[in-house]
Amino acid sequence: MGYEYDKVEVPSDGTPIEVVDEDADELDIPDDPIIPIIHGDGIGQDVGPAAQQVLDAAAAATGREINWMRVFAGESGREQYDENLPEDTVNAIDEFRVAIKGPLTTPVGAGFRSLNVALRQTLDFYSNVRPTYHLDGVPSPVSNPGQMDMVTFRENTEDVYAGIEWEEGTEEVEQVREFVEDEMGFDQTIHDGPVGIGVKPISEFGSKRLIRKAIDYALENDRDSVTLVHKGNIMKFTEGQFADWGYEVAEEEYGDEVITEDTLWEERDGEPPEDAVVVNDRIADNMLQQVLTRTDQYDVLATMNLNGDYISDACGAQIGGLGIAPGANFGDARCLAEPVHGSAPKYAGQDKVNPTAMILSGRLMLEYMGWDDAGQLVRDAVEETISAGKVTYDLERQIEGGEKLATSEFAEAVVDNVHDLA
Ligand code: NAP
Repeated sequence: MGYEYDKVEVPSDGTPIEVVDEDADELDIPDDPIIPIIHGDGIGQDVGPAAQQVLDAAAAATGREINWMRVFAGESGREQYDENLPEDTVNAIDEFRVAIKGPLTTPVGAGFRSLNVALRQTLDFYSNVRPTYHLDGVPSPVSNPGQMDMVTFRENTEDVYAGIEWEEGTEEVEQVREFVEDEMGFDQTIHDGPVGIGVKPISEFGSKRLIRKAIDYALENDRDSVTLVHKGNIMKFTEGQFADWGYEVAEEEYGDEVITEDTLWEERDGEPPEDAVVVNDRIADNMLQQVLTRTDQYDVLATMNLNGDYISDACGAQIGGLGIAPGANFGDARCLAEPVHGSAPKYAGQDKVNPTAMILSGRLMLEYMGWDDAGQLVRDAVEETISAGKVTYDLERQIEGGEKLATSEFAEAVVDNVHDLA
């Protein structure tokens, strides 16, 4: 404790969350925690307050209180501090341990690097968790959306997302080209003329800690399998190695609790021991098909940064799309919840978009704090609202006879249901 904040106020009411044991991911959560929130860019101004309202209602209905500490990044960071990612914001999320954020805009090509990636790297939020499950009443492009119940664990700090890349035309990119061609012997590989080059680091440390989180989750939540998703047939020393390290973790660290798919067939004729989690692997392009064609056979997915982004969006499409899909970033004894969607600038400030993804990201945050009753209430209240046909524009256009609500009206309808269901 003890950061000094330049331009934000620490709420005078409320108790900070304290770390009990960082390595054991153990926090002491009071009933009145201080929780930093970034509303975010674009539609963040719509979905941020809507989510706060619902989370407040669920906390109050279960005898607790959230003391919000509004912090700034992106556009609001530039307005308040003339900086994209002010130190106050990073320090608040670091100090108070559990936080939630809306989307932040990242310019394509030129401009600043992703603030999301910077936040995840700076505070070592190494696992991005994206559960995809179907809520009653949500329209879907597939005939059996109820079969979708997967949780993607996406490595969050490395891969081609690490930001090690050089722009075409710079001295640096020519140095890298020279090194690759002359010193490493890849002299026919890079085309002549302008080129941009990126590096894809996949480490044993980064891979194993992510895969452990996925296996631990599967064991704690009675899941049947963890699938390592990779493109190791082509990228052998990065993605292939990720899968090898995954099997090492499974075989060396969990005893009888975890069994690999090969062992399952070699020794048990495909019959898993009771309560054991099966670890298998699939090639990423095949996996994008499997999530559609064999949806109910998969459970928990563990994968690298880029694959995880693609696969979780593909899963999300089956359960209502980006307006619904929640997510959260976890490190050791820290959580930063955030929806999967971006800032959708064309809808910014219109009180139009669906706040469900941000609300259900808040549910992940509540569950991380051990407030499972409040989390369940949030889920049930959202489901009740949608199944009554009260929806925002994105779902209304797919539902016959649905009632189209504004973002704020939808949040109010969910709050009413929180009260009714409590
Ligand atoms: P996006 O903001 O997610 O929006 C893409 C489309 O998804 C929207 O046009 C809309 O589709 C639908 N959508 C997204 N959020 C919705 C919501 N809450 N309710 C209903 N529909 C929703 O993706 P983008 O346009 O590719 O990215 C915009 C910016 O966001 C970029 O700067 C990107 O870098 C950033 N981004 C940030 C994060 C983050 O902060 N974690 C994540 C992803 C992207 P329809 O128009 O078809 O209805």
